Amino acid sequence: MDKIQTNIIIGEITLYTGPMYAGKSNQVVEVVEACIKNNENFICFKHTFDDNRFGKNEVVSRTGKKTIATSVANYKNIKTEVEKNEKIKTIKTIIIDELQFFGIDNKEEVEGFIKMLQNFSKQGKKIILAGLDKDFKNEYFPLTKRLIEDGLIQNENIKYLKATCSVKNCCENGTCTARIIENKELIDVGNGTKYKAVCHKHHNYNEKINYNEIEWKNEDEISGTKNKKKDKNWQNRVKKRNSYCCGMFKL
Ligand SMILES: [Zn+2]
Repeated sequence: MDKIQTNIIIGEITLYTGPMYAGKSNQVVEVVEACIKNNENFICFKHTFDDNRFGKNEVVSRTGKKTIATSVANYKNIKTEVEKNEKIKTIKTIIIDELQFFGIDNKEEVEGFIKMLQNFSKQGKKIILAGLDKDFKNEYFPLTKRLIEDGLIQNENIKYLKATCSVKNCCENGTCTARIIENKELIDVGNGTKYKAVCHKHHNYNEKINYNEIEWKNEDEISGTKNKKKDKNWQNRVKKRNSYCCGMFKL
């Protein structure tokens, strides 16, 4: 497949990116909520790699917010699903979570994905993407790299989200994802027992930091979820939203 010219700027497309625990999936759920509120036809996707972590056909944020999403393995699946849905109604907004998993070790998938985004954009669709910018070695994921470094998305539409550094008593922002267990595989989908958001100082570039000797903040210190989970209004909001979202797509 021919490489697409790098000077093409894609139209109405927004990328939420950053390390793990920065609130990317939260943003996805908020976009879905906004679509529902505005009566806008939308479709939400996530990569199948994420199915084992949070379950199939669901986007779940760290704070417990969730929405229905179609699990797909590649860009062709996305195209097929959009075409299928458009036989019933025109889709205005396309949301894709866990973007980093598309096109790992597969340049054709990366280029095909970008071409698909350009076509959607030409059709006047709004596209919302969310995913990690870099892996645990602090290297860009291929698709994110193409979109960001080659200027395919306008700068003002790239929203960098930050987490809190997970190291006890560190007040810095978490801007990197660290893998805290021994495993050299690039893809090893996991949660807080495998990965932490850390600041640059606490990322073990060159394996200088031994994570076995680090004391970590607990979940509540990082996200404050304990207080939220106790909040009745918050629980009701989540319940209402989930039943609403389930009604939109009969999956
Ligand atoms: Zn730190």
